[in-house]
Amino acid sequence: MRTLFPFIGYRDGELFIEKLLVKKIGKEMGTPLYIYSKKAFEYWYKEFDSAFSDVERVTAFAVKSCSNISVLRLLGSMGAGADTVSAGEIFRAITAGISPNKIVFAGIGKRADEMAYALSCNILIFNIESESELYLLNRVAERIGKVANISVRVNPDVNPKTHPYISTGLRTSKFGIEYEKAFDVYMKAKELKWIEPVGVHFHIGSQILDISPFEEATSKIADLVKVLRDKGLSISYFDAGGGLGINYKPEEPYPQTESLAKKIVPYVKSLDCKLITEPGRRISGNSGLLLTSLLFIKENEEKKFYIVDAGMNDCMRPALYQAYHHIVSSVEKERTEKVDVVGPVCETGDIFAKDRDIGVSNEGDYLAILSAGAYGFTMSSNYNSRLRPAEVLVSGNTYTVIRDRDTFGDLIKGEKIIDIG
Ligand SMILES: *Cc1c(COP(=O)(O)O)cnc(C)c1O
Repeated sequence: MRTLFPFIGYRDGELFIEKLLVKKIGKEMGTPLYIYSKKAFEYWYKEFDSAFSDVERVTAFAVKSCSNISVLRLLGSMGAGADTVSAGEIFRAITAGISPNKIVFAGIGKRADEMAYALSCNILIFNIESESELYLLNRVAERIGKVANISVRVNPDVNPKTHPYISTGLRTSKFGIEYEKAFDVYMKAKELKWIEPVGVHFHIGSQILDISPFEEATSKIADLVKVLRDKGLSISYFDAGGGLGINYKPEEPYPQTESLAKKIVPYVKSLDCKLITEPGRRISGNSGLLLTSLLFIKENEEKKFYIVDAGMNDCMRPALYQAYHHIVSSVEKERTEKVDVVGPVCETGDIFAKDRDIGVSNEGDYLAILSAGAYGFTMSSNYNSRLRPAEVLVSGNTYTVIRDRDTFGDLIKGEKIIDIG
C-alpha cells in the first residue's frame, strides 16, 4: 500500500480507504460523496487524546468541523466530549449520546433561547465572549433556576501565524475578551448570583502548524488563573481550545500532538486544573474525503479544465479561503497534466484546484478531494438547488450510509407554495 494519509492510499494502483476500493463505493452510492474512515477517526482521536493522558481532561471534539451524529457517536464512545457553538450542535451531541457534562458552549452570539436550552441540558461550561453576554446569561439562569458555570474566553493577543480568516486570538479579532479586560469581567461575574466562574478559556485560531503561540497563550492564561485565585475565585478548568493543524499534502510534515502537550500539560499540572481541549480539524480533517466524478474535460488555448460533479456548495473551503486540497485519481496514473479542477456551480470562484498537476484522467473517472473530513460536509449548502451529498463511514471492508443524499423533497422542505387563486 502506498499511503497518502493513514488508512487512505493506493494498493495495486487503486485507491483504497481502509480495505475498501473507493471506486466500488462510488459506483454503488453515486457522487459527490463524503467517505470517512472509522479507523482514521480512531487513530486521530487517540493520537490527540492520549498525548494529554497525564492530566484529568475533557477532549471536546469541535462539532462544527464534522457534525454527523454517527461520527459524534463514534468519538463519544471513545470518551470524547463536544465543543459546540449553537443550540443545534448541543442537540446533535446529546442525540449522539455524548454526556452533557462533557459539552462546552462557545460562540460570540448566543441567543437567550440557546442559553436556556443549554442550561436545561446541564452542559458543563459556557465560554463567555462579552460582558453583555454575561449579564444575559445571568438573567436566563435566574429564570430557569440553574446556576451557569462559565469561563471567559480570553483573547491572549498572540499571532498563530495561520490564514487571517482563521486567526482568532489577536486583539483585532471579534472573538473573546482582551486580556487586560478579562480580569474585570471575572470580577463582575463573581458578583452575579446565577453565574459561577469555574474556568478560563482561549482559542487562538485554526490550522496552526507552529506550536509556539500555544505556549505563549498558555503561559499568559496561566498567570491569569493565579491572579483570579488570589481574588478568591475557584478556577478549576483550563480550556486551551482547538486549532492544531494537519497536513493537506500527503508528504508534508505536521506537528505531533505530543509536542503540543509538552507545552500545555506542565502549566495545567502546576495549576492543578482539569484540562479541556477542543480539537476539530485535527481529528476529522484527514479522516474523510470527498469523492467526485470527472464529468467533462474542456480545453481552450490557455487552459485545460476538469469539470467535476462536486461544487463549492459541497465543499466550500477552496472557494472561501483558497484552501489547498490534494486531489488524486481513484486509479494511480503514470503521467500527469496541468489542469484546473472546477465545479458545476455558476460562480467563477467554484474552483478546487488551479494549474495543478493531476494524473491524466478521462471523462467518467473518479477523483478524490482529500482532507475533506473537516469543514467539508458541515459547510455544504443547497446553493444552485444542488442536492447535498450522502455521507458514508467505512469500517474494514464494509461501509455504512450515515446520511442519505438530499432528495428533491429535502430541497423544498419547509417551503410553502402560495395560492395564486
Ligand atoms: C472552531 C473552533 C474549534 C475547533 O477548531 P479546529 O481548528 O478545527 O481545531 C475549537 N474551539 C472553538 C471555540 C472554535 O470556534
